[in-house]
Amino acid sequence: MDVFGLVGNPVSHSLSPPMHEAAYDALDIDARYVTFEPAKDGIADAVRGADALGVTGLNVTIPFKQDVVDVVDADDLAARIGAVNTIDFTGDRPTGHNTDAAGVRRSLVEHGADLDGATAVVVGAGGAGRATAFALSDAGSSVRIANRTASSARDLAESVPNASGHELDAVPDLLADADVLVNATSVGMEEDASPVAASAIHGDLTVLDAVYSPLETRLLRDAEDAGATTVDGAWMLLYQGAAAFERWTGHEAPVDAMNAALRSRL
Ligand code: NAP
Repeated sequence: MDVFGLVGNPVSHSLSPPMHEAAYDALDIDARYVTFEPAKDGIADAVRGADALGVTGLNVTIPFKQDVVDVVDADDLAARIGAVNTIDFTGDRPTGHNTDAAGVRRSLVEHGADLDGATAVVVGAGGAGRATAFALSDAGSSVRIANRTASSARDLAESVPNASGHELDAVPDLLADADVLVNATSVGMEEDASPVAASAIHGDLTVLDAVYSPLETRLLRDAEDAGATTVDGAWMLLYQGAAAFERWTGHEAPVDAMNAALRSRL
């Protein structure tokens, strides 16, 4: 039996176990997906221990995504983003990857967005914002990053090809001729708030909200009212999980089964 898991602190409310176990059931794979909650300074020991015990793959979440970069062989994308959310133990040494970027890209593309040559506005410059900015830039978009702490947006824009950094106040102007908007802040999580004024959203946008609790955020309601295409955060969660599953198992992810397991719990 293969053992997979999620390492974070806290992880008790994670939706990853039912999502991945639905994939094992759908493909008749003999595996379990469990959660691990090491001490906040214990990630290096946890990764070594998992490797020694024969764990096949781990997802990584807050607060360890950045620290893990130095503990495993991070691939080029994860190193550029500065965060690892997937560890693969199937080779000689644990390797680190970032499937949040794939989650952003695939969730937009599956909803009809053409990212090559698009203009995208990313609100947020934390972990999700970094993964989003690199994902969109690598897909051929020009990326306008806005953040409450504008210096973080500008610093990030310097390391992302074809990107610029801005203050939050600039978002309405940045959106006027944009094709894609991604909320990569925590604004809207368990609250009826949006980081973007409703009046700035127009019908030519595809709007992805990384926040998935609630599924229908104020931003997505405003986007729907404006006639925009909306993509909720569960799609991003699904496709980052699918990318991790495919890396670990070599099988195409059964996304319908994974999506059903996820949405039944949201
Ligand atoms: P993070 O690294 O802590 O970054 C938080 C971001 O939110 C920063 O840009 C921060 O701006 C901004 N922010 C926080 N409070 C704000 C406020 N009141 N007004 C304006 N901006 C504010 O967190 P993260 O890991 O990037 O996660 C961000 C969100 O994405 C969370 O809701 C998380 O659940 C979600 N997420 C979803 C997925 C998915 O698969 N759907 C994956 C990853 C993350 P400052 O820099 O100014 O503090």
